[in-house]
Amino acid sequence: MIYRTLGRTELSVSILGFGASPLGHEFGAINETEGIRAVQLAIEKGINYFDVSPYYGRTMAEERLGAALDGKRQQIVLASKTGRYDKDQFDFSAERVVTSLEESLKRLRTDYLDVFQAHDIEFGNKAQIIGETVPTLIKMKEQGKVRFVGVTGYQLNPLRDLAENTDIDMVLSYCRYNLMDTALDRVLMPALRRRGIGLVNASPLHMRLLTARGAPDWHPAPEAVLEAGRRATDWCNRQGADISELALQFALDYASAATTLVGMGKVSHVERNVKAVGIKPDAELLRGVQEIIKPVADTCWTSDCPENNDPEAVPARV
Ligand code: NAD
Repeated sequence: MIYRTLGRTELSVSILGFGASPLGHEFGAINETEGIRAVQLAIEKGINYFDVSPYYGRTMAEERLGAALDGKRQQIVLASKTGRYDKDQFDFSAERVVTSLEESLKRLRTDYLDVFQAHDIEFGNKAQIIGETVPTLIKMKEQGKVRFVGVTGYQLNPLRDLAENTDIDMVLSYCRYNLMDTALDRVLMPALRRRGIGLVNASPLHMRLLTARGAPDWHPAPEAVLEAGRRATDWCNRQGADISELALQFALDYASAATTLVGMGKVSHVERNVKAVGIKPDAELLRGVQEIIKPVADTCWTSDCPENNDPEAVPARV
């Protein structure tokens, strides 16, 4: 495993991080025992960053991760979230941040989080996130209940605003640095660098679009993006290559991200993904895929919160 430091925190994190949303069946049902074994194998392989949220499986993923970490909590960096509880259920109030943390700690069977994040901030009111939510996260940090705080989201402009106007330690951005979209590097990264804020890059497989199985029904990308992803996957197949492997190598090679989170609920995925660590993407294969994706490269979609969308966002599919 290779490790990088997360911004100005002293956290040394594995460049491949464990995304726990599949433990909550976000990509379809998984076998619970296998999900727990996947967590344990990841720790054996040197993965030390684990990301979860009360939202994933509506608390199921936190419960399962808590069970899987039994006796191993001290070996890992544990990140969870607050503010999002269902597809359309958000509460970024100070009061809910405090109760949400207590509930997460209980489910995760621990008395502290390493990283505590406001989840999907573009769905909240910006003034509240800046004036109430983040200050409450920081209060939790001062009380020693969490070590570092941050925010997560898809739209890059709101994340950049938060980075510029609050004292967060890290930002989790998803689906914005991968084979389909690298806008993160231009829009968000300069502000993070300037402020010494750590970057967690999530969804290098573009939420399963860049896999043989293809995107889940709920994937919000416009049809043209999904179609380009499918064509790139088929083309890789014809070259005898696995697009997931290439996509992961590409993301892991981005040195500005302290860790890249891949959603894993299967032992075989942990085994495969660990093999991508330290391997550069094949230049010819990468060129071929980028050529296919070029017409839709960096196409981002809207979130259901008009005032917080990136200016160039196009309507989401669902
Ligand atoms: P992803 O791009 O990591 O794709 C995950 C999917 O790919 C899962 O269905 C998984 O089973 C499958 N997969 C994993 N490895 C594979 C392989 N080698 N071959 C084929 N399929 C494979 O998307 P993601 O799970 O959404 O993102 C990773 C993690 O980042 C999440 O689990 C979550 O922890 C975090 N995340 C956070 C936010 C947020 O805070 N707003 C949003 C998205 C993701």
